[in-house]
Amino acid sequence: MQPKKIIGLRIDVDTWRGTKRGVPNLLRILDKHHVKGTFYFSVGPDNMGRHLWRLLKPAFFWKMLRTNAAGLYGPEIILMGTLWPGLQIGKRLANVIKTTYDAGHEIGFHAWDHHREQAKIDRLSADEIEQILRKGSQLLDKICGAPPITSAAPGWRCTDNVLRAKSRLPFRFNSDCRGSAVFYPVIDDVVLPQPQIPVTMPTYDEALGRDGITEDNYNDFMISHLRPGKLNVLTIHAEAEGGKCLEMFDDYLRRVAEKGWLVVALGELLNSDDPIPKGCIIQENFPGREGLLAIQSQEIIGGKDRT
Ligand SMILES: [Zn+2]
Repeated sequence: MQPKKIIGLRIDVDTWRGTKRGVPNLLRILDKHHVKGTFYFSVGPDNMGRHLWRLLKPAFFWKMLRTNAAGLYGPEIILMGTLWPGLQIGKRLANVIKTTYDAGHEIGFHAWDHHREQAKIDRLSADEIEQILRKGSQLLDKICGAPPITSAAPGWRCTDNVLRAKSRLPFRFNSDCRGSAVFYPVIDDVVLPQPQIPVTMPTYDEALGRDGITEDNYNDFMISHLRPGKLNVLTIHAEAEGGKCLEMFDDYLRRVAEKGWLVVALGELLNSDDPIPKGCIIQENFPGREGLLAIQSQEIIGGKDRT
């Protein structure tokens, strides 16, 4: 039997502009290729401008240059939340989120205030994180008429408190770390109830400008990363692939389909009889990103029973 060729598609929506412009563009392209994905929405105030300015130090400046951030994100993202209060995304762009849900895509919670949570998550208690998750889930429920089935920590910053808080909400699964296989996270010998679906591939802003990767060979590079029979999870951003990189992403979807790859929403990756092992999340540096990220530990605990 041929190994399965499946790509889980995750779409992170971090900003006002990504929601307003990027999401409708992506919905059109995904519909054209008959593909469904999992959209992770940020629904509170857009303060991402603060995030970009705060990170204005040498490593980040180099990344801005590599990826041409102003061209990629647009001027309002870089200023958002710096000169005026951040716009409330979920309140004012509810129609975009509802349209995404009605088109049959999976809806997930990404952040209330992406900037704040990405910067401060390791200083928030499990109770504070739970409040954020509940507030965001309730708003998405109000918009869509159904609660989000999944969540993804902003910037892959996921601590034990984040995992504990998530386990108190009815998410079917979460996608909070980078790694190579679906697993049940374990903290202090306790197995948490929601499986993690890690992201296996680099994002556009991580890869571009490194190791000779340019706009011209980016799709070749991403296709060379695919592993038949293994977990393949791609994260795109409404701000990048839904904007400046839209045509390139359209071409990626065309090429992977030609090669026999099926692109699906993340929840579909759990529809397998394979047992899900247990594992741990550790904090490590990651190429192309600032600071520590949540990474799936290579050490697999057990492998048979689903607890
Ligand atoms: Zn994000």
